[in-house]
Amino acid sequence: MLSTIFAHSFYETYMSIIRKAKIVEKLFLAVDKDIEKLKSNTGIHCIENCIYCCTTPGIKATALEFYPLAIHLYKTGQAEQILDKLSKNANSTICPMLNNLSADGSRIGCSQYEHRGLICRLFAFNYTTDKNGVRHIAACKAIKINQPASIEKANLILKQKPLGPKASDYYSRLQFADFSESQNLYPIGQAIQIAIEKVITHHHYRGKKAM
Ligand code: SF4
Ligand code: SF4
Repeated sequence: MLSTIFAHSFYETYMSIIRKAKIVEKLFLAVDKDIEKLKSNTGIHCIENCIYCCTTPGIKATALEFYPLAIHLYKTGQAEQILDKLSKNANSTICPMLNNLSADGSRIGCSQYEHRGLICRLFAFNYTTDKNGVRHIAACKAIKINQPASIEKANLILKQKPLGPKASDYYSRLQFADFSESQNLYPIGQAIQIAIEKVITHHHYRGKKAM
C-alpha cells in the first residue's frame, strides 16, 4: 500500500516536471522570437567560436529552465554520462554542455544549443531599464567590444521603444512554471545536475501517458 502511494507520488511529480518543461519551452519560443527582432534590427550577433559566457564563473541559473534539456538528455540516453562528467568535475565552472574541443571538426560551443537554458539565451541579447526609466542594451562584453556600431544602434532604438527581451520580465514569467523553483539559483552545472537528477528519479514511474 505504502509503495503504491510512493509510486503515485513519483508519477505525479514526474507529470509535474513534464508540465513545467512545456511551459518553459513556450517561454523559449517567445524569447527566441524577441531575440530575432533585436538581432535583425541592430545586427548584434554572437562572435563565432566564442565561448566566453559558457566559461564565465559565477553565472547562475534555475534548475527549472533546464528541465527541457534534462528530459531530452534522458530520452536520448545521455543523462547518466552528463551526471558522471559533473561528478568528476565537481569544482569546474565550465558548463558540462560545452563542447570546447574541436579535434573531431565539430563546432565549438553548446552541444545542446536547442535545449539551452533561459540565461544562455538572454546572455548577449537583452535590455535593462535604469533608475531613470531609460532602456539600455545589456549585451556581453565580447559584443560590446566588437560591435560598437550595433550597440549604439540598439541604444538609439531602445530610447524610443522596447526592443528584444527584458531579462527581468522573462525571469518573472518563469514563475508561471513554478514560483518556488523560479527563485532558486545555482551555478549553471549544478542547476543542470538538479534537473537531470529529478528527471531520472521520477521517470521510472511515468506511465505511458507521460510520453
Ligand atoms: S553571448 Fe557573448 S560571450 Fe557568449 S558566445 Fe555570444 S558573443 Fe560570446
Ligand atoms: S547550456 Fe548554456 S552555458 Fe552551457 S554550454 Fe550551452 S549555452 Fe553554454
